Amino acid sequence: MPSPQHYNALGAKVYNVLKWRQPQSIASRGFQTSSLWRKQNDDSDGKNKKKDPEEEQNDDDDKGRRRRSARRTEGEPAAEGEAPRPDPLTQLKRAVGVADYAQGQQSFIPDNYPKVMMLPITRRPLFPSLYKSIQVQDPQVIGALKELVERGEPYVATFMLKDDEKDVDRITSMDEVHEIGVFSRIMSIYVSPNPEDKHLTVALYPWRRVRMKRILENGTGAPAIEAGEATAESPTAEPPAAEPSEVATADSPEAPAGNEVSDAGTVLQSIQDDYSFTALEVENVADEPYDAKDATVSATMSEIVSVLREITTMNPMFREQIHHFASAQVSKAVFENPSKLADFAAALSSGSSSELQDILSDLNVTTRLEKALVVLKKELMNAQLQNKISKDVEAKISKRQRDFYLMEQLKGIKRELGLESDGKDKLIEQFKAKAEALQMPVEVKRVFDEEVSKLAHLEPAASEFNVTRNYLDWLTQIPWGKQSIEDYDLTRAKSVLDEDHYGLEDVKQRILEFVAVGKLRGAVQGKILCFVGPPGVGKTSIGKSIARALGREFFRFSVGGLTDVAEIKGHRRTYVGAMPGKVVQALKRVQTENPLVLIDEIDKLGRGHQGDPASALLELLDPEQNTAFLDHYMDVPVDVSRVLFVCTANVSDTIPGPLLDRMEVIRLSGYLADEKRAIAQKYLAPQAKESAGLEGANVEITDGAVDALARAYCRESGVRNLKKHIEKIYRKAALKVVESGIAEPAP
Ligand code: ADP
Repeated sequence: MPSPQHYNALGAKVYNVLKWRQPQSIASRGFQTSSLWRKQNDDSDGKNKKKDPEEEQNDDDDKGRRRRSARRTEGEPAAEGEAPRPDPLTQLKRAVGVADYAQGQQSFIPDNYPKVMMLPITRRPLFPSLYKSIQVQDPQVIGALKELVERGEPYVATFMLKDDEKDVDRITSMDEVHEIGVFSRIMSIYVSPNPEDKHLTVALYPWRRVRMKRILENGTGAPAIEAGEATAESPTAEPPAAEPSEVATADSPEAPAGNEVSDAGTVLQSIQDDYSFTALEVENVADEPYDAKDATVSATMSEIVSVLREITTMNPMFREQIHHFASAQVSKAVFENPSKLADFAAALSSGSSSELQDILSDLNVTTRLEKALVVLKKELMNAQLQNKISKDVEAKISKRQRDFYLMEQLKGIKRELGLESDGKDKLIEQFKAKAEALQMPVEVKRVFDEEVSKLAHLEPAASEFNVTRNYLDWLTQIPWGKQSIEDYDLTRAKSVLDEDHYGLEDVKQRILEFVAVGKLRGAVQGKILCFVGPPGVGKTSIGKSIARALGREFFRFSVGGLTDVAEIKGHRRTYVGAMPGKVVQALKRVQTENPLVLIDEIDKLGRGHQGDPASALLELLDPEQNTAFLDHYMDVPVDVSRVLFVCTANVSDTIPGPLLDRMEVIRLSGYLADEKRAIAQKYLAPQAKESAGLEGANVEITDGAVDALARAYCRESGVRNLKKHIEKIYRKAALKVVESGIAEPAP
C-alpha cells in the first residue's frame, strides 16, 4: 500500500528536476518567459541564506502569518521582473505576467475578490491547484484579458458551460453555466506568432471555488471593495505592493494593501467600459467542515493514492501530468489534504463533464473524495485496457517483424546456397497481377486474398504449397467478368446455319426464333436446347453452328456412361490430384463467361455409387440455381447462368425426367436418299476433297456414285457413314493422282 509520504518524496524529487526544466519547456512552446523564472531560481538558491531580520522577529508569532510574510518577501522582487512591461503593440508576440507561483502563488492571489471577469469553459471544469491553459477566440474578451494582465489584475473566474456543445467566451445569462466555478490567476497569455491564429492562449492557475452571485452589467462593475474585507487575508503580491515594511503590517486590517484591491475593482470597471466581456460578482465557497481523522476519509484517500500510483505506472501521459503538478509545490499539501486530493484526482481523470462538475460543486469533502475515487478508478480501468491493447499490438507487431526478418534471412541463405530463387514471390506477384486484370466478385476476391497470404507463409517444399498454388491457378484462370460480345443478327445467323448444314429447315427455323428472342431480350440464357435424333444427323455439328452464329465460344463434353458426380462438380481439394468439374474446365478453356457448352449423349448418363450425376447436371442446367453453381474444388460460387447449354441425345426416353422438363427438345429425323445426295455433293464431298489435298485436282463424285453408296453401303439415317465413304473415295483418288504423277506435291 503506498503511503502519502511516498508521493511527497516523488513530488519533491520531480519538482527539483522540473524547477529547472519548466522555464525551458514553456519557452520552447513559444512562451516569452519573463525574468520571473530567473527570479524563482535565484530565490530558491538564496532561500536558505540569511533570514530577513524582520522575519526572524516574527518567528514566534503566528506561523501561518510568518509563512505568508516570507513568501511575500521572496515574491516581491518579482515586481521588478515585471516592471519593464512589453510594449502593447509587440505584446501579441509575447507572453505577459508569468508569476512565481511555485514559490508563493498564494501571495499573488487575493483571498477575497468578489468582482471579477468571467471566462466560460467548455466540457471540463477547472479544479483548484491544477494549471490549465484555455483558448479564447472573442477579440473583445482577448482585449479585456490583455488589459487585465497589463494593469496587474490578472484574475478571472472560470465556470463550466452547461451545454457541452457550446463554445463561447461570453455569457448573457447565469443559466448558461454551472453555479460553482473556480477563481484563477492568469499566469500568462500567449498569442501565436502565426497571424492566422486569432485566438489567445491563457495559462491559468485555478485557486479556489467560487459561487456565482450575479452578472455585472457594463458600468455596474466593481465599486471599491470594503477595505477590511479585502485586506484581512489578501496581501496581493502584485507590484508595487510590498515593501518589506508593508509585509510586516500586511495582516493588520488597516494595512494600505486594501487600496490595491479597491483599485482592482476600478480596473475591472474601466476595462468594462472599453471591452465587452462577462463580469461577475462571486463569493468564496468553503468546504463543509469534516473530520480529517475520520476512517472513511483516510481510507478513501489511501485508495486514491494507491490508484494514482497504479495509473502512473501504466500511463506515461498521466505520469507527466503528475510531475508537472508536483512542480507546483502544492503536492505536499495535496496528499495530506483530502479536499485537494479529491480535486487533484478529478482534474487528472477524464471523467465526463457532468461527473467532474459534480465533484467541483460538492462541498462535502467525504462525498467528493468518493466521487473522485470513482472517476479515477474508471481512469485506471481505461489505462489497464489501453495497456493491454498496446501490449497485444506490440506482441503482434514484434512477432510479425521477427518472422519477416527470419524469412528474409532464410531467403538470403537459400539464394546464397543456390537452393531457391525468389520463385515464390514471383508466383505471388503473377497471381496478383492476374487477379488484378479480372473482375472477381467480392467473395471470390476475399478467398483469393486469403489463399495468397497462405501461400506466402508456406514453404515451397510443403505439400500444402502445391495444393494452394493449383487452387490459385484455377481461381485466376476462370474468366471472371470476361464475356464475348453476342451477335443476334438474324441474316448472319441464317447464312451461318445454311453454310454448315443442308436442309433441316425446321431446326434452323427454331434456332432463328431463338436468336430473335435473344435479340429482343438481350440474352438467350434460361433456355436449354436438346437435339434428339439418330447418330450422324448433325446434332453436334448444328450445336457448333449455333455457337458460330451467336458469336459464342464452343465447348463440348460428353456425359455418356458418366457415373462420377465429380466429373461435373469437381473433387474436394483435399484429394490428391483433385480437379474442378467440366464446367469450370470449360470456362478456363474458352476464357469467356458466356460460351455455348454442348453436353453430348445426355440420354446415356450413368448412375454410379458416387452420387447421382443427373442431379449434379440439374444443378448446373437449372436457371434457378446456376447463378451460384458451387464446384467442390473451387468452393466459391461460380455464375454459369450466362452459359448457353445445348444437349444432344439419341432418344428422349432415357433422359432423366427432371432434366427433360427443363429442356426444349428439337427432333432431327434421318435423311432421305435425295437429301443424302445433296448433303454429299454440297457439303461432304467438298470437305473430303479438301482434306484429301485434292482441291486443285479434277476429281468429282457423280450423283450416281453417291446414290449407289447410300443405297448399298450407307443405309443408316444419318450421314456419318456416307461421309466416311466419300472420304475413302477421295483418299483413293489422291493415291492415284500421286502415283500417276499428275499433281505436284504441296511445298
Ligand atoms: P450426330 O451428332 O447427330 O451424331 P454429327 O453432328 O456428328 O452427328 O454429324 C456427322 C457429320 O454429318 C458431320 O460432319 C456433319 O457435318 C454432317 N452432317 C450431318 N447433317 C448434315 C447436314 N444437314 N448438312 C451437312 N452436313 C451434315
